[in-house]
Amino acid sequence: MAVDATQPYDDQNIFARILRGEIPSRKVYEDDFSLAFHDINPQSPTHILVIPKGAYVSWDDFTAKASDAEIAGFVRAVGHVARDAGLVAPGYRLLANTGTHSHQEVPHLHVHIMAGRPLGPLLA
Ligand code: 5GP
Repeated sequence: MAVDATQPYDDQNIFARILRGEIPSRKVYEDDFSLAFHDINPQSPTHILVIPKGAYVSWDDFTAKASDAEIAGFVRAVGHVARDAGLVAPGYRLLANTGTHSHQEVPHLHVHIMAGRPLGPLLA
């Protein structure tokens, strides 16, 4: 079910539990501010999720409340993960669903990195 991006942070959400190590994930990268792991239901040959370690519901929450260091660290981590996975050529897509109309399902900010096939026009 899609989540309301204005809701308070729920520390029982699935990505909070992955961050606490309560449930497993296929980790690809971790630093002080960010964690990256493979999506459990990949929509493309490469489908990685990058999340901030801080408790932020959505892109909106993150950009309103996170420190400049967290934001810079997270944005650099997304770029690093894509580069390290060899995705720069022929390319990749970033996606951050926010709220019900975007069909955000997990109420902890995550950026999807999708690659490995031609993805088509965004609104196809
Ligand atoms: P959203 O629709 O919120 O942008 O995307 C949520 C993503 O999280 C989906 O692509 C879904 O497959 C993924 N996901 C949901 N539960 C889990 C889980 O327990 N582990 C992993 N690795 N991915 C998950």
